[in-house]
Amino acid sequence: MNAEHPDRARLEALDDAHLWHPFTPMGVYRQEDPVLVVAAEGHELIDVQGRRLLDSVASLWCNAFGHRNPKIDAAIRAQLDRVAHSTLLGNANDRAIELAARLAELAPAGLSRVFFSDNGSTAVEVALKMAFQYHRQRPGGGPRDLFLAIDRAYHGDTIGSVAVGGIAEIHDRFAALRFPVRHGTAPHCLRCPLGLERATCAVDCLERSLAIIEAEGDRLAAIVVEPGFQGAAGILPWPEGFLGRLCAAARARGVLVIADEVASGLGRCGRLFASELEGIEADFLCLAKGLTGGYLPLAATITRDEIHAAFLGRPEEGRTFFHGHTFTGNQLGAAAALAALEILVDDGLIDELPAKVEHLAGLLATLGDHPLVGEVRQCGLAAGIEIVADRPSRRSFAPALRVGQRIAIAMRDEGVFARPLGDVLVLMPPLTITPAELDRIAAGYHRAIARVAAELPR
Ligand SMILES: *Cc1c(COP(=O)(O)O)cnc(C)c1O
Repeated sequence: MNAEHPDRARLEALDDAHLWHPFTPMGVYRQEDPVLVVAAEGHELIDVQGRRLLDSVASLWCNAFGHRNPKIDAAIRAQLDRVAHSTLLGNANDRAIELAARLAELAPAGLSRVFFSDNGSTAVEVALKMAFQYHRQRPGGGPRDLFLAIDRAYHGDTIGSVAVGGIAEIHDRFAALRFPVRHGTAPHCLRCPLGLERATCAVDCLERSLAIIEAEGDRLAAIVVEPGFQGAAGILPWPEGFLGRLCAAARARGVLVIADEVASGLGRCGRLFASELEGIEADFLCLAKGLTGGYLPLAATITRDEIHAAFLGRPEEGRTFFHGHTFTGNQLGAAAALAALEILVDDGLIDELPAKVEHLAGLLATLGDHPLVGEVRQCGLAAGIEIVADRPSRRSFAPALRVGQRIAIAMRDEGVFARPLGDVLVLMPPLTITPAELDRIAAGYHRAIARVAAELPR
């Protein structure tokens, strides 16, 4: 235990007076013992109270290689001695060029044109707008003004990304702001919307999406999916065969495929890209979160030469993609991302992932035995542990009990920082996590779940 930070009281008072936290019920913020980080080392956060907490959610799914990673630190420091930022609008910089080329080299075949932005929401937003404009400009094309998304999807919080979102609690209140989107059924097997069981069903939930493509394929500009798993929905991996068939059906009707790998790409699923899992051919690949190792806000939307070609012409023809952010292609972010990709690919971290994924699967199996655990779900180094009040009926606890949040708070006493999604406990550790650290997190959950269970009404 380190010492308490001398400024703790002052910082907490200023926090309460001035800071509005994202995705946070501010009315209970202080009561829920928020972690105020003042430093970090490797996989541990150090907070204002002097606690060292193992970062089991990689600082919201992005800190892929640990905090104060020597390679990324050095890359940013070296870049600072050259230039921090210059504009990419009509002009270039060396780091953004190098990173675009590197991403094109690593991305699945055919994805060779890189558009940078600042976060996952904008990476998806860019793909939606590009797809929309592309159909108007492609040879022999015409307007397509409709999109297909999947229930329970989360693609970010800007209005365009909200329009293709499918989480009622987050998105429904903004329904009036949405552009036209059809929603296919999500395969939520724990509580199947069709009342079927995964062991015996034929992935029947795919039929609604296929029917939409069949009926309205000529109007659909694009379909947007989260390859690997639906993240914010509660870490829901796709049943085998769902995404592969869905994306193939879309492409057969000229519907562009947007692969939102903001959470699932860059090693998270145990592969470099989650699209590889079902051989999905994407027209747009969206990356963010782990792209800079979770250091700086940087995102990429990677697309095909054919799509880029539809935006060529003389300026007065109006084919330009009029979209860009002040910090597009920022050099510090690009330098961090180049170092991150070196760690993941060149230093061989990607090859170490399958063994860690297997180790995690073993730990999850033991957690799955707990009477309060309704289901454990895993895709690579991402996992969701769904807490239920009653296992046979899969009944949830009342949201007011904030069971997931209580378990996350109990994890602090186990020396672990956690952040759940409702009553789904989330494990999204740095990719550099060790088996021993995974053991610590799992052991912490065994004890924390038991402690909170003892306090709950049944
Ligand atoms: C986090 C996330 C986003 C949004 O990324 P931000 O950087 O938070 O805007 C989009 N899509 C998926 C799948 C995500 O997990």
